[in-house]
Amino acid sequence: MRNIIIAGNWKMHKTVGESVKLVNALKVKTLNIRKTEVVVCPSYVALKSVADALKESNIHVGAQNVFWEKEGAFTGEISPGMLVDAGCTYAIVGHSERRQFFGESDATVNKRLQAALQDNLKPILCVGETLAEREAGNTFSVIATQLEGGLQGLTAVDLANMVLAYEPVWAIGTGRNATPEQAEEVHKFIRQKIGDKFGEATAAAIRIQYGGSVKAANAEVLLSQANVDGALVGGASLDADSFIEIIKSAEKLQN
Ligand code: PEP
Repeated sequence: MRNIIIAGNWKMHKTVGESVKLVNALKVKTLNIRKTEVVVCPSYVALKSVADALKESNIHVGAQNVFWEKEGAFTGEISPGMLVDAGCTYAIVGHSERRQFFGESDATVNKRLQAALQDNLKPILCVGETLAEREAGNTFSVIATQLEGGLQGLTAVDLANMVLAYEPVWAIGTGRNATPEQAEEVHKFIRQKIGDKFGEATAAAIRIQYGGSVKAANAEVLLSQANVDGALVGGASLDADSFIEIIKSAEKLQN
């Protein structure tokens, strides 16, 4: 049984003070959440304060990216060890905004994954097609290529410490979510690919989140799909009430 994981990607939003205020509210509102794993991913500068504020809670902290070197002359970068030291359990890797605006490739995604896993930071690997790729009928080949390149050289043990996220680029921040059927079709394909490469047990155990305009109104139907094991939430994670509604939908499905 895969327990549902709901992660909030705050992107470049919220000051340190606003971030702490948000998690203090979430901490109270998640007191009765038992089955759902909850993760928040603030900006780098707020990580430590958020992690400190969440010490007595079961909400995990994640970074929005991670560099692949341990230390050195890499101005502006943050290593996996630094993130763990700041209180992170997770790191998002290969988000489409990183791929689109910062030249992220499957090769650099792979380096980030390897480095994170080596330092016990759990990656959330994002894959997803653009609208043009979907309309050209290339969704499955794009996802297959991203998985192949991103997961190069990883083992089943590595996969046991990872989460995958299917995030169709056309659904991110657009208000246009994938239909439950569209999401399920791709999630099933991703699980099959993981099975082919790493074996059935790994495929059955790995959690695959859906991301792209998830909100309280559509969370339950998306999370009810057989191969949808969570949500990576952008906009709707910036407000405690809307994020908690998504978490409650997940909790309800597991009771
Ligand atoms: C995201 O940032 O990963 C995301 C899915 O954003 P939104 O929920 O706003 O579409």
